[in-house]
Amino acid sequence: MGRTALISGVAGQDGSYLLEFLLDHHYEVVGFDIDGNALARLTRRITERPDARRARLLVADVTQPDNVRRLLSDTAPTEVYNLAAQSFVGRSYADPYDDVVITTGTLNLLEAIRRHAPEARFYQASSAEMFGDAAAPQTEQTPFAPVSPYACAKLYAHHLVRMYRDVHGLKAASGILFNHESPRRRREFVTRKITHGIAAIVSGQATELRLGNLDSRRDWGHARDYVRAMWLMLNRDEPADYVIASGESRTVGELARFAFDLVGLDWTRYVRQDASLVRPHDPANLCGDAQRAEADLGWRPEVSFEALVTEMLDADLEAHGLDPKDVRR
Ligand code: GDP
Repeated sequence: MGRTALISGVAGQDGSYLLEFLLDHHYEVVGFDIDGNALARLTRRITERPDARRARLLVADVTQPDNVRRLLSDTAPTEVYNLAAQSFVGRSYADPYDDVVITTGTLNLLEAIRRHAPEARFYQASSAEMFGDAAAPQTEQTPFAPVSPYACAKLYAHHLVRMYRDVHGLKAASGILFNHESPRRRREFVTRKITHGIAAIVSGQATELRLGNLDSRRDWGHARDYVRAMWLMLNRDEPADYVIASGESRTVGELARFAFDLVGLDWTRYVRQDASLVRPHDPANLCGDAQRAEADLGWRPEVSFEALVTEMLDADLEAHGLDPKDVRR
């Protein structure tokens, strides 16, 4: 029987990798997003694929219950992936109302599934940010301690999903994903900001890179590995919540040093700390323990931290008209 997936927030980093993954696995995919320009870019990205006609991409707003209900009843999906969010934590302090995409959006999807597609499996993009100040390493048992509006919204959605699973019997799972990056990451996130900043410095377009908190520790993996985990946890008989992480954490300063080293530059000569970029509060050490995912799903990350940063840097060098072979050490 053919499988149809519905993806909210399909035009974001994870949505684009998930779309490609599901097409590779012979799904029909209906993806929607509020950002029409990003959807147009995604359409161009997949247009060369011979199976591109199995994807239907449309502009729709997950915060509108009627939209969501109509999408659910029209597409009759077997799987629903809820990725829609304003995902940049730094902005959520300034614009906390944007987090309604997470709270209302998740509620709309769960209600629509309960009423119109109760057999559909549901994936929720939960976040390591929900752990906030909890001690590392964090597991599925670690108590949540969110410290940003974004994390509070994600935690509300996380509990809602568990409640719909326990009370209404939906086949719903949440992936508690730690930071996952790629060349498709937006430039406001620190990984991409660093690799893009280095490319700008090497090509003579910039002389420095301004960053905020250099001491916070994050656990970085590759988005392609992490969308595979989403699919694996949804296709398990017993839906459950999983931490998805590499298990290694580094400081932002260590990330910057590694990336600058790749082009033979001393990071301390280029990185300037800018107090205006430091957040009102920042989880100090997010580092996940994904043993449960490995045991139940057979999931392990395939891309190392070093390979991730190198891939991102090479993509940014190429986008600046540079050949990584000429520039890298
Ligand atoms: P997040 O962990 O989902 O918030 O992902 P980010 O990539 O936005 O931030 C990762 C860490 O890098 C956080 O602890 C930030 O405070 C820290 N950081 C330090 N300087 C910067 C910066 O200039 N931009 C961003 N986005 N993060 C920074």
